[in-house]
Amino acid sequence: MSDTKLDQYKKQISDAAENLMSSRILGNSSHGNISAKIPGTDTFLLTSVSNLKQITMDNIGLFDMDNNLLDGSVMPTSAEIIPMHGIVYKTRPEAGGAVHTHAPRATAFAVAGMPIPASYEPMVRFGMGNGVPVTEYGPRGSQESVDLIEHAIDGKGQIRGLLLGNHGLLTFGVDVPDAVDAHKIIEECAEVILATYTLGGPKEIPAAQRLAAQAIQQTFAAVGEQTRT
Ligand SMILES: [Zn+2]
Repeated sequence: MSDTKLDQYKKQISDAAENLMSSRILGNSSHGNISAKIPGTDTFLLTSVSNLKQITMDNIGLFDMDNNLLDGSVMPTSAEIIPMHGIVYKTRPEAGGAVHTHAPRATAFAVAGMPIPASYEPMVRFGMGNGVPVTEYGPRGSQESVDLIEHAIDGKGQIRGLLLGNHGLLTFGVDVPDAVDAHKIIEECAEVILATYTLGGPKEIPAAQRLAAQAIQQTFAAVGEQTRT
């Protein structure tokens, strides 16, 4: 992996930090971390500091799949969560990016120990037909927390992230921008669904209707753009 190639992925991470900041879905602390799997290698990049406001291309470390620092630096708070990102890439080989924040509305579900149900159509249309699962609490940086993540995502279809019990949101995607998109969609879903609790709570979309919604989406996608002059 050339430095130039590596820099492309560092740029994706620093752009993602800016994107998350400008989307205003972060908590007031701007706490978060972002990683990128480097294609064709057993390595990934991870932000070295835990405040997304402070992310630059110069404070992103390179790690192997045993969570060893290969290049760059990592602060103690971020060192705790290297395995949290590593387990995503070990468990989901299709994943190329992962994002963790304490986005407040999604985190409210995590603190309540409640999964986000598939009751808002964008969840179905954006590959989350099984909603967003939640784990039990595991102390940050512990093997227990890593095992809980692995169990929640291993072999599970129709999810793009999970809620870390009493902690926050962790999403993954084919690359970093995809993981950021999943983050934004989940936070929006959490906001809408939270509002429904003043109205009697969310109504889950029946499983057959979730499949129907995805089939329609795929039919239109297969047709592609339609134009007429
Ligand atoms: Zn956290």
